[in-house]
Amino acid sequence: MVVFVDEKNSNNVQIKKVWERTLSVLRAELGEATFRSWFRHIKFGELADKNLILYVPTKFMKDWIHTHYADRILSILKNNSASVDNIIFDLQKFNKPQKISNNTNDVNHTKDNSVGSSGVKIQETGDHNTMLGAPLDPDLSFENFVVGASNELAYAAAKRIAEADKVSFNPLFLYGGVGLGKTHLMHAIALEIKKNWPERKVLYLSAEKFMYQFIRALRFKDTMSFKQQFRSVDVLMVDDIQFIAGKDSTQEEFFHTFNTLIDHNHQVVISADRSPVDLDGIEERIRSRLGWGLVADIHPSDYELRLGILQSKAEAHLKENPDIVIKDNMLEFLAQKIDSNIRVLEGALNRIIAYSSLVGRPVTIDMAQEVLKDLIRASQRRVTIDDIQRKVADYYNLRLSDLLSARRSRTIARPRQVAMYLSKILTTRSLPEIGRKFGGRDHTTVIHAVKRIEGLKDSDAAIQEEVDLLTRSLES
Ligand code: ADP
Ligand code: MG
Repeated sequence: MVVFVDEKNSNNVQIKKVWERTLSVLRAELGEATFRSWFRHIKFGELADKNLILYVPTKFMKDWIHTHYADRILSILKNNSASVDNIIFDLQKFNKPQKISNNTNDVNHTKDNSVGSSGVKIQETGDHNTMLGAPLDPDLSFENFVVGASNELAYAAAKRIAEADKVSFNPLFLYGGVGLGKTHLMHAIALEIKKNWPERKVLYLSAEKFMYQFIRALRFKDTMSFKQQFRSVDVLMVDDIQFIAGKDSTQEEFFHTFNTLIDHNHQVVISADRSPVDLDGIEERIRSRLGWGLVADIHPSDYELRLGILQSKAEAHLKENPDIVIKDNMLEFLAQKIDSNIRVLEGALNRIIAYSSLVGRPVTIDMAQEVLKDLIRASQRRVTIDDIQRKVADYYNLRLSDLLSARRSRTIARPRQVAMYLSKILTTRSLPEIGRKFGGRDHTTVIHAVKRIEGLKDSDAAIQEEVDLLTRSLES
């Protein structure tokens, strides 16, 4: 969508829309977590003489956004025909205290944020330490984390670490696929500890940032203070540890830090996209040590959890945008259609809200279907007829070529019917398409197969179980 902003008098209204549009592009490009870290706290200011003024809460954020994102922001604005030549990031006093720093020495960023003096102040005390950790997102709290069967162990373990006054398992190793809440739980631990024990030093950072800090220390011949900084923390959390696979000296350094902290009974929390044993490219002794404490995995979410998460997000949105009403059936639709990961799910909800607020249309299922075309197709593409044929052939110990052949012996015909039936219910393919995929059969053959299996499922417990088993394994 393109918004033109040539009219002088409506400039600010228009540019604000373009800015919102820019934010949703950035959100899609960067992913929810990164987006939140850096863009949630930006406030739209005004357009003054082709200068777009944006307010940011801290000097650190200002510098970071400026160096990392300013060019991209400008180019998105321009793509949307905004007449902006320049972006000015300004520090601004916010009403609500913003918990965004996660440095080992706490710096109160909200104290006196008038541009000049506080800019310097923050730079003096804040930057150095803030560089070590990553900013914490106050929204990634335990309160905002919805618990279900797939994440309850990870949640309970995280909660225990945040609340206990002594170390009960060390390290806590959280693992699971992308977008399932690992980073959320780590932020929640850090936020909670800072609340309960403000004097404790909690350091959260990604493994990537750990490596970057380490390389910097090497370059500036400053490894002593690097070591000291990391080893003096009470709680160290390193996110996405799989990143250091194959990076030998970073691994080595990490391992020393890790051992020192554990030996001194300081809490360590690690996350990864897979279990310790599966971390290829990480040395065996490190892998095994990572698994010594508690290993908690987060499974893909189930429907109820997705719905619960959507309900809580929708409530939060309602507070921010009271005009945009999202009905329960909309949330059910999303929870059903988008089952890949929670980040995508959230992104879908945000996209609908953004779209509705930009074009001023109410949220309906039709609109969602249109706006989320790509996502819905992507998650439905997951089971293909080929997958089904392979799985079924495997299960009944047949050759794929037999399954697709013209042979009619019962040992082949029945599995073939099962495969056709599954193709009908698990994919969006039409009957003629399914027929073609099964050796060029007619669609009436497919209908017959579907009816036959449906009938057998009711009368034959063995068939029913086979079909259920195959369905589950195809959908997992
Ligand atoms: P990961 O680090 O596992 O890739 P994140 O922690 O970044 O995933 O989660 C992705 C997004 O989904 C975040 O915005 C997070 O707040 C949200 N999310 C994940 N799990 C939950 C949950 N159980 N309740 C609420 N929000 C969740
Ligand atoms: Mg993460």
